[in-house]
Amino acid sequence: MRRKLVAGNWKMNGSIAANALLLAEIKAEFGNAACDAAVCVPAPYLAQCQALLSDSAIALGAQDLSIHEAGAYTGEVSATMLLEFACRYVIVGHSERRAYFGETDELVAQKTARALRAGLVPIVCVGETLAQREAGQTDAIVGQQIDAVLSLIAENDLAKIVVAYEPVWAIGTGKTATPEMAQEVHAMLRKRLSAKNTQAATEVKILYGGSMKPENAKELLAMPDIDGGLIGGAALKAADFLSIICAA
Ligand code: 13P
Repeated sequence: MRRKLVAGNWKMNGSIAANALLLAEIKAEFGNAACDAAVCVPAPYLAQCQALLSDSAIALGAQDLSIHEAGAYTGEVSATMLLEFACRYVIVGHSERRAYFGETDELVAQKTARALRAGLVPIVCVGETLAQREAGQTDAIVGQQIDAVLSLIAENDLAKIVVAYEPVWAIGTGKTATPEMAQEVHAMLRKRLSAKNTQAATEVKILYGGSMKPENAKELLAMPDIDGGLIGGAALKAADFLSIICAA
C-alpha cells in the first residue's frame, strides 16, 4: 500500500510575513494526518521555512536544482545547498521550467540523477499540452518524458523517485483532468516504470497536479494509481491545502 503524499508547490509566491502565517495555519490543523505532506518553497525562503517546520511532520522541498555540484554557475542552487536546509524533496522538470526556461527531457533526467546522488527525493513532473492531447499524443509525449529519466537512473534508484503527472492544460486554469483521464495516464506511467523495475514500480508514488482543489481531490485521490497531489494555487490557502490533505 502506497502512502499518499500531498505536496504544495508555492511557485514564485510568498513573503516572509505570508509564509509565517500560512505555515502557522497549516501546522495548527495538520495534527496526525494520514498522509505525507510537504511544501516546496522558493529558495530564498528555505531557511525561514526550515525553522518554521522544525517541530512539524510537514517536509520541506525546493522547486529546482542545478545539475552541477558547485562553481561558476550564477543563479543556480546546488543539491548540497538544499540539503543544508533539510530539504527532503525537490521538484524537477515542472512544465513551467520546461516551457519558460527551455528545460529539455535530457536536462530533467540529469537533474533527477543529481537529486538522487545527493539523497534528495526528486518529484519528476511530466505532462502534455492541450494541443498534444488533442492530437492524441498524450502517451507518446508523457512516455518520452519519463523514459528520458528512466534511461539515466539506476534500476535500484527507481523506488526513490516520485512522479507527478501534470497535464499542462490543467495547471492554473481551473480545468482538471477527470479522475478517469488522470488514472489512464498514471497507469501508463506505472507500466513504463515497471519495464525498468517491476517491484519498484509498485512502490513509486505518482501524484496528480493541475487545478487540484478541495472540490475534486477526493475523487482524484480515490483512483488506484493516483498516490497524492502536487498542488499549486490551493497550496497557498491553508484551509484548501488542509482539506486536500484530509481527502488523501
Ligand atoms: P495549480 O494547482 O495551480 O493548477 O498548479 C499545479 C502545479 O503546477 C503544481 O506543480
